[in-house]
Amino acid sequence: MNWKPILSTMKPYTPGRSIAEVKRTYGLQEVNKLASNENPYGSSPAVAEYLRSKADQFEMYPDAFTAGLRTKLAEFHQVDPMEILFGNGSDEMVTMISRALLQPGTNTVMASVTFPQYAHNAKIEGAEIRQVPMLDNGDHDLEGFLKAADDHTAIIWVCNPNNPTGNLLSSKKIKDFLDQAPKTALVVLDEAYFEYVTDPGQEDAMNWIHDYDNLIVLRTFSKAYGLASFRLGYGVTNKANMAELNKVRNPFNNNSLALAAAEVALGDQQFLQDCVKKNHTERKRYVDYAEKNSIAIYPSETNFVLIEVPMDSDEACEKLLQHGFIVRSGNLLGTPGYVRVTIGTEQQNTDFFKAFDQLLITE
Ligand SMILES: *Cc1c(COP(=O)(O)O)cnc(C)c1O
Repeated sequence: MNWKPILSTMKPYTPGRSIAEVKRTYGLQEVNKLASNENPYGSSPAVAEYLRSKADQFEMYPDAFTAGLRTKLAEFHQVDPMEILFGNGSDEMVTMISRALLQPGTNTVMASVTFPQYAHNAKIEGAEIRQVPMLDNGDHDLEGFLKAADDHTAIIWVCNPNNPTGNLLSSKKIKDFLDQAPKTALVVLDEAYFEYVTDPGQEDAMNWIHDYDNLIVLRTFSKAYGLASFRLGYGVTNKANMAELNKVRNPFNNNSLALAAAEVALGDQQFLQDCVKKNHTERKRYVDYAEKNSIAIYPSETNFVLIEVPMDSDEACEKLLQHGFIVRSGNLLGTPGYVRVTIGTEQQNTDFFKAFDQLLITE
């Protein structure tokens, strides 16, 4: 068959190991998954309540216009309802944007390291990938981005805060960048962890979409809202960009339950704020732990940290698995010598530090 030749060089996404499998393999009673940046506090109780009592009409296609969530979200973000595009997770937003803009002869600019799906999709579309090494502190090198971009650049990916480092670029830096970036390139500001940012200087980038015609801002219900299982992300951009992106969107790409769950979750900002506050407190404990033990840690504004390990990353992951913790190896993320750990609950983190202590002793 005539598969795209590039596919022979690619691998499917490798998911983290499941709790059930790790329990079985290591004979453990309790296993904590701190690998996929899921919300350790779950989701708003109002969501489960809704699904138990009100979910029905499973035979109907979802509302193609996603009116309920669209209206509420537009109000929440103070944007026009027609400026919002929904994806099956922001993962699908990345796919749609790539599909609409990338082809052979175009190039796309991104950081190294950053969210791997940008490069993955670019390969499939046949675009040239221009990866700009991150600065020593883990920030995107936005000046390097400007040098890498040209007239054939179709997409520039700015992951803020960045996965897997957790680094946040200031709003001023992003706006300066937008002022100088080629107007012919769509700048994608992937803000999957926006809700977790506690830096008081952070502005809401949704307010900039009319200042910059080439800007789209991505958010998701998977992380702080705790609804990863429902697969719901969205992008906000002007109507002209929206019109093009809508052409590559699959019909009914969001399911009814996901749309309803997100609507309920959006209405429970108290739950969200509680999670963000706890995460902030727990994040500080990771920084303190790293400092106390002289381990490098990137400055995270998210619900995960990228921390140094005193051995090969895969080996460290294996040892942490034996203690019941699933984390993400830096070897997979392009950050060897580090592991990415999702910040858990207070108890999970206390237990994690005990497990990590063992890595330091055996060294
Ligand atoms: C988790 C994540 C996503 C994908 O989120 P979904 O909405 O679950 O598809 C997108 N971008 C970044 C940077 C992420 O970390």
